[in-house]
Amino acid sequence: MKKKIAIIGAGIGGLTLANLLKTNSNFEFVVYEKEDVLNLEEGYGIQLSVNSVSTLNKIGFDQLNKNDKYHPSKLDFYSINYNKICDLDLTKFNFENIQYTTIKRSILINFLKEKLFSNSLMFRKKINKVEEIDEKVNIHFIDGSTDTVDYLIISDGVFSNTKSIIEKNFFKPNYHGAIAIRSQVRVEDISNFNSNNVSLIMGTDAHLVLYPVNKQKEINLVCIIRKKLEDNNSIKVILENSILKENKNLVNLFQGELKSWPIYTSSKPIKSIYKNVLYIGDAFYTFLPTMAQGASQSIEAASEIFKLISDNNKDLQNKYFKKRLERTNLINKRSKINYFGFHIANPLLKILRIFFLKRLVRNKNFIQNYLGKIYQ
Ligand SMILES: Cc1cc2nc3c(=O)[nH]c(=O)nc-3n(C[C@H](O)[C@H](O)[C@H](O)COP(=O)(O)OP(=O)(O)OC[C@H]3O[C@@H](n4cnc5c(N)ncnc54)[C@H](O)[C@@H]3O)c2cc1C
Repeated sequence: MKKKIAIIGAGIGGLTLANLLKTNSNFEFVVYEKEDVLNLEEGYGIQLSVNSVSTLNKIGFDQLNKNDKYHPSKLDFYSINYNKICDLDLTKFNFENIQYTTIKRSILINFLKEKLFSNSLMFRKKINKVEEIDEKVNIHFIDGSTDTVDYLIISDGVFSNTKSIIEKNFFKPNYHGAIAIRSQVRVEDISNFNSNNVSLIMGTDAHLVLYPVNKQKEINLVCIIRKKLEDNNSIKVILENSILKENKNLVNLFQGELKSWPIYTSSKPIKSIYKNVLYIGDAFYTFLPTMAQGASQSIEAASEIFKLISDNNKDLQNKYFKKRLERTNLINKRSKINYFGFHIANPLLKILRIFFLKRLVRNKNFIQNYLGKIYQ
């Protein structure tokens, strides 16, 4: 008999899992999304390291129009005054067809959605109650409809309220004391940086990341600035009080439409009280953006679940949780180190940062250990 899987949330993690399940005719699946439509907002870039590109290629990502993605070969480090410190070779971990990739989030979501049949994606659906009886999961939705499945996969993002409903416990992510500001930048406005590469510019209590998201060189900008929750200043004032104080010429980067949102991280990952319920992506754990691994990890988790379900693994929940926890702890530690390193305020520590960065990017063992373990 076919195994049935319900996925809650049509984000990067949920849609990747759905696409993987579609490759195996032993599975039946439905993705339940709370919104009316998928969020295909333009101008939001995402970096995908090879650990996730290898999974995406299994569902045809390598066939996607080559103009719609970009493969940067270097990550350039700069101080806030445009002085280049050093660069890191991103191609070290590439294979012939599996390369470090940058892309618009909307293009990735659209690619993942297009491959699914319309009846496998249901909108305006939110869970009200879940129970597990005889190895089956019964799902009750707020609109009164129900479904009975073999596995329930929760992929509803950072504010996963489904988790609180299922586990009968209140889960809330923690504000990390910083905001993200995003914009699109014209390539002419970044003449101080190499527009072929990812540029990381480090200021005091703030850093910026710039990268092209396609072959037309549309540039994505994301800026992370430490900020107290109670500080209600406008984006413009926040920028003026932080990075623009250090380098007023950076104002050229902020001419386009600006969007901002608070940075949240999760408390510890949990195993569900129900054996056949699993969490993936930001619903499992929300990382700081300083390792650019959020989307990649949700794709990796989708691949792990697909493999365990395909193998009919009897100890699926424990096996999945153990591996995911190991990966989460590793990436979380690196993300926190990066967060500290990118936001150094002390002048002496800034000098030390330059000294160490220049050496570390050339140290093969360090790079293999620091990044290779994540990109494997
Ligand atoms: C500033 C910033 C920069 C980032 N940059 C990168 C990067 O460069 N590379 C990278 O890998 N990652 C990056 N990330 C992280 C990445 O965007 C997320 O980790 C990733 O999108 C998580 O995917 P997901 O599928 O878990 O959740 P999402 O993509 O958030 O999807 C969740 C889905 O669930 C739906 N949903 C929510 N609640 C319910 C409900 N109750 N019922 C049904 N559906 C529901 C939502 O509408 C949404 O469609 C960044 C994050 C930030 C904040």
